Amino acid sequence: MAGIDDLPIRDELRGKSPYGAPQLDVPVRLNTNENPYPLPEPLVASIAERVAEAARSLNRYPDRDAIELRTELARYLGRSGGPRLGAESIWAANGSNEVLQQLLQAFGGPGRTAIGFEPSYSMHALISRGTGTGWITGPRREDFGIDLGAARSVIAEHRPDVVFVTSPNNPTGTAVDTETVLGLYEAAQEAGPSMFVLDEAYVEFSHRPSLLPLIEGRPRLVVSRTMSKAFGAAGLRLGYLAADPAVVDALQLVRLPYHLSAVTQATALAALEHTDTLLGYVDRLRAERDRLVTELRAAGCEVTESDANFVQFGRFDDVQATWRALLDRGVLVRDNGVPGRLRVTAGTPAENDAFLDAVRAVMKENDR
Ligand SMILES: *Cc1c(COP(=O)(O)O)cnc(C)c1O
Repeated sequence: MAGIDDLPIRDELRGKSPYGAPQLDVPVRLNTNENPYPLPEPLVASIAERVAEAARSLNRYPDRDAIELRTELARYLGRSGGPRLGAESIWAANGSNEVLQQLLQAFGGPGRTAIGFEPSYSMHALISRGTGTGWITGPRREDFGIDLGAARSVIAEHRPDVVFVTSPNNPTGTAVDTETVLGLYEAAQEAGPSMFVLDEAYVEFSHRPSLLPLIEGRPRLVVSRTMSKAFGAAGLRLGYLAADPAVVDALQLVRLPYHLSAVTQATALAALEHTDTLLGYVDRLRAERDRLVTELRAAGCEVTESDANFVQFGRFDDVQATWRALLDRGVLVRDNGVPGRLRVTAGTPAENDAFLDAVRAVMKENDR
């Protein structure tokens, strides 16, 4: 049987592994930052209705520009004091990963580079590789915050074409303050001018407001968001961005025609009709996140401050053994490769109790 290496695959893909957390069938799965609450029945009914309607015209291609959906996403972003945007400032695709890929297809690519401050979301580096964009690793402090001075000098030195900042950051949970984002944007403009992508996948869980208003007057600032986390719709595959309309125009040059299926558009529109219900879960998850931080500290763990729906905790001499010991107790968490640390997603109160019991037991064993 032939293996990958027998194929004329691109050199930079040789010997690499695909992205993916283990999808194991265990009682408590807290490893992929999903929302633990299933969609409420009234929403399921709305989806069924909208999808049936869409099914009646599946012989036709969908709205290529997804205007109705982009209009509703803009309306969502304008809620509670957000900027008033129109469809022309919004772009949507199959998960924010596809949005990020389109950004790199348009602004990265062979001969160009992108930078991220690690540890951070590993897909930024992987999508860069997939699009032939060189990857530069920028530094973080010991406490996982971004040191503005150090970050500015790396940007000045490497002059990347695309700068990624994730806030709240995955897997650490760390939020980045406004001054740091503004300072980094400025550095990117002096060095480039470069595109600046603020990945706000978890912002609905944050103690700080979204930095979306900053796109006003900053034509190279892009804010990316997703329905996978706070909206509890990871299975839907719907991500989006807000930026200057010129950025949206640029993405039309690389997107595949009809990339968002009529079924996806109909489902996302149904979910947006139920925004209030869905965001109701966010408050519960924030409270559970805070409880995890408190209880993990009480159990003797070192915990990184979190603005997301997950918590980074440690430190463990043998991270893999700890991960395995928790799994043996029916709890799946994530090893993101950060030395000494694991990441747990805030689940339902019962799931979090099971996780905390397992941690306490493992900590006791480690002490022995
Ligand atoms: C989960 C996550 C995303 C979302 O990806 P989707 O493709 O929208 O599911 C984006 N950025 C970060 C940092 C994430 O953790």
